[in-house]
Amino acid sequence: MKEGKRKYVSELAKQLAQLREWLSSEAKPDDRQETAKSIYRVAHTLKGSAPMFGFVRVGAAAQKLVEVWEWTQSEENKGQASEAIGSYSHCVEKSAPILLELELELDIYGRELELDEQQERMHRSLMQPGGERLLVIDDDEVLRSYLVRRLRLDGYEVDEAADVATAEKLLREKSYQLVTLDLMMHPVSGYELFECLKEDPTLKWLPLIVLSGREDVNDKVRCFYLGADDYVTKPFQYEELAARIYSLLKRTKTFEQMAFRDPLTGVYNRRFFDHQIQVELQRIGRYPGPISLAFIDIDRFKSINDTYGHHVGDLVLQGLAHLLQDNLRSTDVLARFGGEEFVIVFPNTSGPDAKKTIEHILKLAQVEPVAQNEGQAYRITFSAGISEWVSGMDVQSWIEISDSAMYAAKEGGRNRVVLRMDGEAAANATQLAQTSVRKRVLIADDDKILRSILIAKLKHLPVDFQEAVDGEEAYQIMMEQPVHLCILDGVMPRLDGYALLKRLQEKDERPYGMKIMILSGRGREEDVSRGLQYGADGYMHKPFSMVELELRVKELLELP
Ligand code: GH3
Ligand code: MG
Ligand code: MG
Repeated sequence: MKEGKRKYVSELAKQLAQLREWLSSEAKPDDRQETAKSIYRVAHTLKGSAPMFGFVRVGAAAQKLVEVWEWTQSEENKGQASEAIGSYSHCVEKSAPILLELELELDIYGRELELDEQQERMHRSLMQPGGERLLVIDDDEVLRSYLVRRLRLDGYEVDEAADVATAEKLLREKSYQLVTLDLMMHPVSGYELFECLKEDPTLKWLPLIVLSGREDVNDKVRCFYLGADDYVTKPFQYEELAARIYSLLKRTKTFEQMAFRDPLTGVYNRRFFDHQIQVELQRIGRYPGPISLAFIDIDRFKSINDTYGHHVGDLVLQGLAHLLQDNLRSTDVLARFGGEEFVIVFPNTSGPDAKKTIEHILKLAQVEPVAQNEGQAYRITFSAGISEWVSGMDVQSWIEISDSAMYAAKEGGRNRVVLRMDGEAAANATQLAQTSVRKRVLIADDDKILRSILIAKLKHLPVDFQEAVDGEEAYQIMMEQPVHLCILDGVMPRLDGYALLKRLQEKDERPYGMKIMILSGRGREEDVSRGLQYGADGYMHKPFSMVELELRVKELLELP
């Protein structure tokens, strides 16, 4: 169809050029009858054919032209040249704006075709192997399978979920580039999924399009505030949804490229690595299995720069990045750690297996040049250190162990891979993690909902929570066990927040260096100053932003 349209546009261009010629040159009186008939014929053809190719506006304009020249078909005009000639100039005049309109339409359709082709090209380039994986969440079986089928035809890898529970499971097991979410589902509504997505740092930024039967502006507003990227109401045209998906994926990809990729080598940068290593560890926490980390440093790289110049140094870095990437699985995370150092996270891979992979790549580097420049080939070797993560080990120690293994490889003569499986270092790290006490946060508020919201919002912090429904209970708890921070409601039954503060101050009892932050719905100046006067360390007015709350809590607990 596209091909047909393109051909038709070029045909249309020829016909309009012909019309323009007839209409702008002075036809000799004798030829006018024939010219008029020709104009009619072309107009008539356009009127019939254009709509068939979807060029409706061309058809309509051609219809007007047909009407102007209709008289050429009338029997009465046969032989009455003079009359016809009289009307000829008049008709030419009337045709001029119509021809202009047609030419304008031609121009627009031409551009539209160009844009369509551009879009197809971009679409194709986006759909290259390793194509995006999407998750369609909808309890409407018919709609879901229709969407899945169409999206697969468009080259996406697509999974489907009929309810929130299945969706959550899939989201934790696999990585998706985009999710479409139905709002009204049974037994649990789509809204529930927002919570799960937002609280999970691995899913927080996942592009999400809401598909909803609800046109209510409140639903739309709520969804956008909850983190939806787009909102499409049912029924919708598949083409429109596909275009929205395409646009969202493209934008995300561009942003990721800018924010998370190293511009020289195209592999992930340090920032992404720092984030992703946490994500991978969390995944292993949920689905236990081995995970390993490799540190790679090019041998004597400085001398490559010094001997052949920085440009060749850059080519070598790019070459090694490609060699590494080409020999890793898609789930392995390769990043440039700095200068001539690369790191790789190998999920679901034991230390010995990661070592095999890196040794294989080192062999390839030894025999094949990693870069070519002006006819000269450049070969390098590298030293690598690997360690397997052990439960309880923190990220920093893990990186340090792999790094020290890499240094051991350098010291051992370079051009080799060293695997550190020494449990001792790992055990030390484990011990370290265990001895650092988790801080305890006491939430004293008579509003049960508020308490559970606070816990839900803060539960990703490395702290334990304790709840109290009034001031007396809060007081008992803080006297009996260590509390590092108390989030205290100003107004509560039995003993309100201010009275509790006052009691602590009077008795000079502030165990364990506990910090106190007041939450108050009143927000009056005098409340704030009363709180601070009694020794509160912080003050927040309800309603408050969760982001701000989290920052303040981290600050007071001195969390990183
Ligand atoms: P070793 O075998 O002990 O690792 O020796 P080395 O020379 O590789 O190590 P060193 O750390 O002394 O040198 C690293 C060099 O990498 C120094 C720095 O100029 C160079 N370098 C860092 N980033 C880049 C870059 O982006 N491009 C280029 N061309 N060179 C870089
Ligand atoms: Mg080096
Ligand atoms: Mg180095």
